[in-house]
Amino acid sequence: MGHWKEIVLRGAVIPIQQLAMFREQVAVLRGTFSNEDRMRHELVRFGGMLHENGFVAATDGNLSVRLDDGRVMITPTGFSKGMMDAKDMVVVDLAGKKLKGSHNASSEAEMHLAIYQERRDVNAVVHAHPCTATAFACSGIALEEPICAEVVMTLGKIPLAPYATTGTPELTTNIRPFIRDHQAILLANHGVVTYAEDLLSAYLKMEAVEHFAKVTLAARQVGAPQVLNDMQLEALELARQRYVNRRPAKGAQTAVPLGFSLSQLARRN
Ligand SMILES: [Zn+2]
Repeated sequence: MGHWKEIVLRGAVIPIQQLAMFREQVAVLRGTFSNEDRMRHELVRFGGMLHENGFVAATDGNLSVRLDDGRVMITPTGFSKGMMDAKDMVVVDLAGKKLKGSHNASSEAEMHLAIYQERRDVNAVVHAHPCTATAFACSGIALEEPICAEVVMTLGKIPLAPYATTGTPELTTNIRPFIRDHQAILLANHGVVTYAEDLLSAYLKMEAVEHFAKVTLAARQVGAPQVLNDMQLEALELARQRYVNRRPAKGAQTAVPLGFSLSQLARRN
């Protein structure tokens, strides 16, 4: 059966799967593979990664991207994120009106659109129910304690938006106040939403939130997590600024302050 999975081209044995990738690359070079085509495949790819990592179960979760013409492409409702096809994606305008697609858009599309409306720098949104972070959201605990230097540098505080029924305007109303100053939000009794300038960055933030939730849980089990002090936070903020300034303009962390206001922390503690 193996010989059906590859072909010989000018003496070279090429797997059929690789040939499909070559075809796409040629299309990109020729300019015939549009931003929309590419994004359809990217949504399939990152949906598969959410599924493989156990960040979603059954038909949970949804992903979207802002296309280069301003329309939004989102995953369809009722699909496993590990079993989607590029043709299943739905295209809507910023008001949520369906423009393209044979399925209906995710029932949580409004939450995605609210994020695109509030943040012009955001081009991708990922929503999932990763186990540990969702457990914090279900226990009414925000992930706001600065206990990991890496998280202070990259994600900042992860606030908890009040509970609302999924798919209702109330969900959007409840997250709206947090969108501008954060990059990830816990949704009470529900899950997590992350967003960034591209799909890879939004997906990686989901991984980072879940990892931080696991570390926080473990630290609480081990003993009392040690919160970084004002001086340490200030030094991390300076280090972050140096890092951001060194990076090319297209950076995930450039637009958003980390949210660990020192005076705020002092008030809290
Ligand atoms: Zn959900």
